Parts: sequence; structure tokens; C-alpha cells
Amino acid sequence: MALFYYINDPKTESLLQSKTIQRSTPLIILVFALAILLSSHSTVSAQEEAPVIAIAIHGGAGTISKQRLTPELEKAYIDTLESALNAGYALLRNGEDGTAAVISAITILEDSPLFNAGIGAVYTYQGEHELDASIMHGQSRKAGAVAGVTSIKNPIIAAQAVIDHSDHVMLSGAGAEEFAHQQGIEKVDNSIFNTQRRLESLQRAKERIDQNLSLHKDALGSDMRFGTVGAVVLDAKGNIVAGTSTGGMTAKRFGRIGDSPIIGAGTFADNESCGVSATGHGEYFIKYNVAADICARMKYQGVTLEQASNMVINRVLKEAGGDGGIVAVDNNGNVSMPFNTPGMYRASIDASGNKTIAIFK
Ligand code: ASP
Repeated sequence: MALFYYINDPKTESLLQSKTIQRSTPLIILVFALAILLSSHSTVSAQEEAPVIAIAIHGGAGTISKQRLTPELEKAYIDTLESALNAGYALLRNGEDGTAAVISAITILEDSPLFNAGIGAVYTYQGEHELDASIMHGQSRKAGAVAGVTSIKNPIIAAQAVIDHSDHVMLSGAGAEEFAHQQGIEKVDNSIFNTQRRLESLQRAKERIDQNLSLHKDALGSDMRFGTVGAVVLDAKGNIVAGTSTGGMTAKRFGRIGDSPIIGAGTFADNESCGVSATGHGEYFIKYNVAADICARMKYQGVTLEQASNMVINRVLKEAGGDGGIVAVDNNGNVSMPFNTPGMYRASIDASGNKTIAIFK
């Protein structure tokens, strides 16, 4: 402040310039030299220390109605996405394994009634909830999945237990539950997944089905299965991990399983290319092997993550009539989140630290 005043005093300005600066020249040079030394040192150590990490999460894609999305509801979605994103990212920044980051982000979304996974899962035709989840590790290609489980609060944890404590990749139904409970995963009553909003969706769906409309996307509409959740990360060791968790489709019958627990369709990770978690009309994602196809295109066609994921979601899948989207991270920490529906709940932080939280295009 004093110096500023001094310099702005016209009488002393020229004196200052000629005498003060001359006298303090050696000191200024010394300070500059020290600053350059320190900043180059900290740049080197920042480069050495700052790991390349990235995270992308989603909370489902579909025809999100702007009218029904009140400002309060929109804020609730954004806040929940952000806390899941931040939880995963904080673990990555601490150098934790990508598995921990994916599980931490997904369990936050599973525990929120806003999303179609865990609490808030859609209802089956019989009025219950059957949950699917999977997780895959890009370094080892280890993968675990549970399908059609009814008494596991956080199916993503059970999917990881399949990797850690079994020789299998996918367990289903009562067997998956028995396995999970043997591993100490808490058994819950199916009614804990109940929500009024999903019950109303079931009632609307059943009316349409009972008018002889099949369990088909035109009959049920994408509003019947909003909110599948997923996360993909690149951790500080360069490992890609992807996971997905869902309640599937409203009014599903006959033990229907979607793409979410199917490795290659709803979830895929390969350290040499990318990791993907999908959301949308599962039958199409299975038929077009969507998650694995995106990574294969990167690997064998040499295209970028953005090009590969856009080609699959906005060309191949769209032309086939399959609606939905994906979030993906490649081994350089690039993020891609295309969708061919009006909206997709999504959030990401890429390798450069760019943060995105969005719902519509
Ligand atoms: N893909 C999920 C399924 O078909 C649903 C969704 O992502 O909305 O089970």
C-alpha cells in the first residue's frame, strides 16, 4: 500500500525510478532467480506427483420431462450426482484403486431414491424389485456381476464380491443372494426399494400391458426405466474400472435381465483402450455389444474415444432403434458421454480437471 502510494506520488516517481530501483537491483535479481528456481522445482514435482486421473458417472438416459423436473428436483439430481462424483474423485486423488472409486460413487447413487438402482429401483410386473449390477477391471479383465437379486441393498458390492470370492463372473437370483449373504453382505427386505414414484410408473405400465401392448419400448416408453447408474474411472496407476447398477425396466417379467450386468454390453473396461458404463434400452445394448464395441473400435480402428462412442451411440444404435447413452473414460483420461435420448443424468472430471454436471444436451 505504501509502495503503491509512493509510486503514485508524481513528485517522487522519477526519483524512485532512478534511485530506489537502481539500489535494489541486486536484491530484485536474487528474488527473481529464487522465484524461478522454486517455480521450476514445483512444476517438475507437480508433474511427477500429479497423477492422470478421471471419472465419469451417469444416472440414466431417456426422455426426461422438463415440466416434471421442478427446480427442486433438478437441484436434488445435480447435488446427488455431484456428491457421487466428488466421492469417487477424492479417492482417485488419494491414489486409491479405481475399484474403490467406482463402488463409492455407485453406492451413493444406489442409496438415493432418485435413481433406478438400489433404493428407487423400478418394479417388476409382480410388484417387486430385481436388481442387476456389474463391475470390470481394465488391467486384469476381472469382472463380476449379479443379476435378478432381490435382497441385496447395494448390488455393486455383491458384484465386486463375485470377483474377490468366487471363480465366476456372473451369479443370478437366489444363488447370487446366498453367495452374497455368505460373504457377509447384509440381507434386506425387498420393500426397502419401494418408492411411490416407481409404483405409479408400474401402474401406468401395467395398464398398457393389459391392453395387450407388449413389454416393448413403444409400449413402455423410456420413462419407465430411467435412472440406471454407472461409473467409469482412470486411477492413478493407469487402471480403468467400470461399473453399472440398475433395477432394469418397469414391469419386466419372466426373469428378464438387461444389459447392465452383462460384461461387454452394459459394462466394459480394458486398460489398452477405455472403460464404458451404459444406460438405455438394454435389449439393444446386448445385441450390439455396445460397451465392448466402443473400446474395440478405439483399439482396432485407431479412432478416438469420442469418435468411437459417437459412432456406436449416435449411428449404430440409433439406426437400430436403441435409445440410451454411455459414459466412458480412456487410458489418457479423456471423457466421452454421448446419448441419443433428449437427456442423460451425467457428471465427469477429466484428466485436465474439467468438471461437467449436466442433464440435457
Ligand atoms: N439398461 C437398463 C436395462 O435395460 C435400463 C436403463 O439403463 O435405463 O435394464
